Amino acid sequence: MMHGNEPTGFAALCALMAAGEPHSDWTLVPLVNPTGIDLFTRCTASGLDLNRCARRSGPREADLLKHVIQSKPFRLALNLHDQRSLFHPTGSSIPSSLSVLAPRARTPQGESVPAEAQGWAGWISTSMSRREPNWGYARFDDQYYPEAFGEWCQELGILTVTVETGVAIGDYARTRVAQQLGDILIELDQMERPQASSFTHYQALPFNAANGVDVLLSDGDSESYWKFEEEVQDRAYRCGLARVIPSEGAEVPVYHRVECAPDEYRILTARDRWTSVELYASASEGLRSLAAGLPK
Ligand SMILES: [Zn+2]
Repeated sequence: MMHGNEPTGFAALCALMAAGEPHSDWTLVPLVNPTGIDLFTRCTASGLDLNRCARRSGPREADLLKHVIQSKPFRLALNLHDQRSLFHPTGSSIPSSLSVLAPRARTPQGESVPAEAQGWAGWISTSMSRREPNWGYARFDDQYYPEAFGEWCQELGILTVTVETGVAIGDYARTRVAQQLGDILIELDQMERPQASSFTHYQALPFNAANGVDVLLSDGDSESYWKFEEEVQDRAYRCGLARVIPSEGAEVPVYHRVECAPDEYRILTARDRWTSVELYASASEGLRSLAAGLPK
């Protein structure tokens, strides 16, 4: 939880800790951003994105993480994040439930990505897709972010993989993906290195695209687009659907199509936001079954 609203990695690390004495010598840092966790925000309470603070002095949370990373000659670093549901593998209409990235390293010799880091990224993705063959798998945006921890670790010579877990259809609370990631970490604990085929798998993964929409609501005549949204306000967690208006002429991959009667459509589209509880209480069968899969 370097980002306070991305709890899946925390749950997976709890599973690794609960599995007993590990084979490898891990250092786990489950919580990096306590003030952001309280607010359920990406940034800290003072508005800083800790994953853009790898090469500066402060804030204290980032300094502590840098200190941990440099405390031992680590071989592998996994940077566990969550991604929003707008991400989907290019060319498919399901959310990316897992995206991986071996970040670029810039050294005086030039820019490179260690093959073994790509192998580990590919192994994590293959391992998840063996468990959940119907989910979406992608490679995260491989733009170079100099201030990010992944790039910095890779340049320190630690093999680094950024893991971005996402939602799956029916798993908007990310419960299942957290369990699977925990099992994968337990399996990884026993491994020395990834297979050669994992590198090839990583290279073949489609890139993430960022224009997916969770729900298309239709009454036969009119249509509207809705995205999954979660937030904490006044210390209460809320999630639900918020209306989105795609840009003119844009191609919009839709994960779910829900048909409803004209009357109901009119009521639903009179507002821009619905919590999952409100949807469950008032809406059509299609929306109710969707709302049942959303966190309460
Ligand atoms: Zn993140």
